[in-house]
Amino acid sequence: MSAFLARIDAELAEIRAADLYKTERPIRSPQGARVSIEGRGGDIINLCANNYLGLADNPELVAAATAALETSGYGMASVRFICGTHDLHRELETSIARYLGKDDAILFAACFDANGGLFEPLLTDQDAIVSDSLNHASIIDGIRLCKAKRYRYANSDMNELEAALKQARADGARSIMIATDGVFSMDGYLAKLPEIVALARAYDAVVMVDDCHATGIMGERGAGTHVHHGVADGIDILTGTLGKALGGAIGGYIAGPQAVIDLLRQRARPYLFSNALPPMVTAASIKAIELAEKGDHLRARLYANTAKWRSGLEALGFRLLPGEHPIVPVMFGEASIAQAMAKRLYEAGVYVSGFFYPVVPKGQARIRTQMNADLTEDDLDAALAAFGEAGRELKVIS
Ligand SMILES: *Cc1c(COP(=O)(O)O)cnc(C)c1O
Repeated sequence: MSAFLARIDAELAEIRAADLYKTERPIRSPQGARVSIEGRGGDIINLCANNYLGLADNPELVAAATAALETSGYGMASVRFICGTHDLHRELETSIARYLGKDDAILFAACFDANGGLFEPLLTDQDAIVSDSLNHASIIDGIRLCKAKRYRYANSDMNELEAALKQARADGARSIMIATDGVFSMDGYLAKLPEIVALARAYDAVVMVDDCHATGIMGERGAGTHVHHGVADGIDILTGTLGKALGGAIGGYIAGPQAVIDLLRQRARPYLFSNALPPMVTAASIKAIELAEKGDHLRARLYANTAKWRSGLEALGFRLLPGEHPIVPVMFGEASIAQAMAKRLYEAGVYVSGFFYPVVPKGQARIRTQMNADLTEDDLDAALAAFGEAGRELKVIS
């Protein structure tokens, strides 16, 4: 045991020495456009939550959760197939399927589990998975748990995707599944779904899209990237989260053809061997989808904020990655500069987080800012002023 702990301690020391040790700042208010943080007076403008529509402290969601807590109790104390299925679960699954335009949906404790449980029941060693190199960790892990042959293509490189599909066919794959994020979370880039769908048709492949950063905010009614790109029929399977735009609590899902959902209910391990979502989260998620679906006014504010934020940062001279998504990465190159920026901004009342290796490639350190519908013009003006001051101080801009 002591040798074991000594090794763990040494690894922790290495992480600290490399300046890669992550600390957490406890928030003591509801999640929102401004939060209050332990050990820091006043509130701070929050530019790093996935709370795109500002629903995390929405009174209607709180009321729906409270009502379900009163009528349906606290927990289910069972997995779904034993005695853990509440009628709220089926209502939410039907609501997700309708919202996304799929036959049916199946709930998981998180999208991490949805992606972890998706591939293994559907594909065997006779099949192939073709995966974008920037896919979320949970897709990578889910693919690892599956015996299908793996092929990888460089982020959104359609020539490499086609080469991989050709290779998979040449290798005799029975079924081929293309797996991609709908929005790549470090860059805010959108996957090239129209091209992917065309290639999938040419090589008879199934397409799976993880739309965690898009559901609720992209496309008509916020249904997601498949609707945004006008290729809803070409995307066979969607996975997503209840932990971002849709209220930000917890939970994930897979939506797709009836037979796929039926088989996953029989075979997906994180579904069979893990607890059902609590009724309060399930009920509030039903309400969140309702609010997201009719949330054009929220999306209008979200994208107006995104446009103002982008042009404000560009006018100050910061280097941004191009795009339209409310993820707006501000590029600094060196990890130490991104960290110093984040620290100064925190002191100046703006909460952001630096991202550096291994989360993003070396030399591409950044601060990933994220807009939401609740940020006011005053919040953004104050945040821009703070970015300008910190950037000039650190000589990132002149
Ligand atoms: C956040 C995220 C997940 C994980 O979702 P959880 O519900 O928090 O587990 C999976 N995939 C992508 C692309 C994500 O951004």
